Amino acid sequence: MMKNMTIVIMACCMALALKTAVVNAQESVYVFEPLPHAFDALEPHIDAQTMEIHYSRHHRGYFNNMLNALRGTELDGQSLESLFAKISKLPVELRNNAGGHWNHTMFWNMMSPHGGGKPTGDLAKAIDSSFGSFEAFKQQFSQAAGTRFGSGWVWLCVDTEGMLFVSSTANQDNPLMDVASTRGTPILALDVWEHAYYLKYQNKRGSYVDAFWKVVNWPEVARRYSTAKT
Ligand code: MN
Repeated sequence: MMKNMTIVIMACCMALALKTAVVNAQESVYVFEPLPHAFDALEPHIDAQTMEIHYSRHHRGYFNNMLNALRGTELDGQSLESLFAKISKLPVELRNNAGGHWNHTMFWNMMSPHGGGKPTGDLAKAIDSSFGSFEAFKQQFSQAAGTRFGSGWVWLCVDTEGMLFVSSTANQDNPLMDVASTRGTPILALDVWEHAYYLKYQNKRGSYVDAFWKVVNWPEVARRYSTAKT
């Protein structure tokens, strides 16, 4: 009796240790990063309540669901970028939730309380040569945001030639995925799901896009551009 109990207890301990090891392995690859600014830092353009719900509930939900979708599979531990490159062959829950996690991690860094204005340096030159002017780029990006039907994202991407282009994806897809109609390396991201703006702007997506331009973190976009083109 005692012997059986000991075996049961040992088995439980081993199972627990194994589970902890798996969770730790996941945590070393997949990270729910802290928000780079306070919830109210982007006021009045993006309100604190939206930021809190968006980050703490929506993004956290994608992250947790992604971990659940990966747990116990041979995909667990692979980089998100490598999963995106073959996402058409993987379960849709992974596509939605890994996309949701990656996209939001990028999105939080797209906005800064010191943001807005215009890009400078190499990025400004690349925008001019790809779109004609910053205003022309802004118009194209805003139009893509306004015409994305339902939920999705708008992107500024670098292509394999180093040129920039604007694209839009549905749901939580992104331009790194093999399902994207135009693939590239995203350097600017805008979430146009209603959960990103409904509390403050209701159905006025255009007002939300106008507000986004006032907080865009151009130095971060420029950093991503310089990494992407090398
Ligand atoms: Mn979102």
